[in-house]
Amino acid sequence: MKDSLESILEVAQTAGRLATIICRTVLDEAPADPSSMAKGDDSPVTVADYGSQAVILKAVADAFPEHGVIAEEGSEHLRLNSGGAGAAQITRLVGDALGQEVGFEQVCDWIDHQGDSDHEFTWCIDPIDGTKGFLRRQQYAIAIGIMRLGEPWAGVMVCPNLPVDLDKPDGQRGVMYVAGSGEGCLRVPIDGGDSEMVTVSAEGDPAKWRVLGSVESAHGDPKLVTAAMESIGIHGGFVRYDSQAKYGIVAQGGAEVYVRPRSKPDYRENIWDHAAGAIVVLEAGGHITDLDGKRLDFSLGHKMTENRGVLVTSNYAVHDAMLEGLANAEKALS
Ligand code: AMP
Ligand code: MG
Repeated sequence: MKDSLESILEVAQTAGRLATIICRTVLDEAPADPSSMAKGDDSPVTVADYGSQAVILKAVADAFPEHGVIAEEGSEHLRLNSGGAGAAQITRLVGDALGQEVGFEQVCDWIDHQGDSDHEFTWCIDPIDGTKGFLRRQQYAIAIGIMRLGEPWAGVMVCPNLPVDLDKPDGQRGVMYVAGSGEGCLRVPIDGGDSEMVTVSAEGDPAKWRVLGSVESAHGDPKLVTAAMESIGIHGGFVRYDSQAKYGIVAQGGAEVYVRPRSKPDYRENIWDHAAGAIVVLEAGGHITDLDGKRLDFSLGHKMTENRGVLVTSNYAVHDAMLEGLANAEKALS
């Protein structure tokens, strides 16, 4: 297939929708909470993570076999830990989503598809971002970022459980953000309804700014965030969500800030936790750096080794104010 923005976004949307079917089916079929298997770093992973990655990378391998891939999961851990029942479940889930007969080996091959690491385009995949939120049946995201020459260039991010209208949590849920370089950011309700281009908030009054962070305190530093807000007079609230859904909410003007302080001195962010979200928020008019105000470098493999933390805001004025607030808070708490 031709490497146009249009064809890349089309494949990414198809992949995101197939992955959504898998994730929702796992939640629907689980009697209480879906079971998880711990990985070496103690982060949880489920059959849905593997199923989601398999259908996404099948779509990429079919359409753009040479494009590079950096994805969170690998089949080795699945083979070791899934057991016979797990292997049968994932094979059925993937086969049903694709509408074709598949075998377990084929599923593992898709999960491990890598392409050419030197290619102009690299797909950066988190098949379920916010697995802890998925397990709690709260927020999670299927994050498909496409980088061109090491820069976020296109992205599809599906938040299958995010309310279409954040003010109506009991209403329709399931949103897909579609962003391409220079083309803006489109928000699509995945189960039907009107799509719309979204833009960041224009709120200039710090007292009204709203701040987003992780549900998991260990993924950030909530004390530092609230101290930073206090120091520059932000009173719009600190709301915590799992996953890159936070990027979507800033992109659509639902908050002015998403801050992810360094959780510990040696932690470096994974690019799949940010690549799709970054293009979504940039195309909606937002701004993103690390906590030192430095450009994020997505070109160094799967970790952003040259950056610490992430700050996402609706514009430069909010950004500068937040950096100042964070510096004040760091001094006050040290
Ligand atoms: P969130 O849902 O925003 O808390 O982000 C979920 C992501 O946090 C996961 O996909 C992990 O890659 C990442 N993560 C895991 N441990 C840490 C940590 N100590 N600091 C920051 N992020 C982490
Ligand atoms: Mg993740």
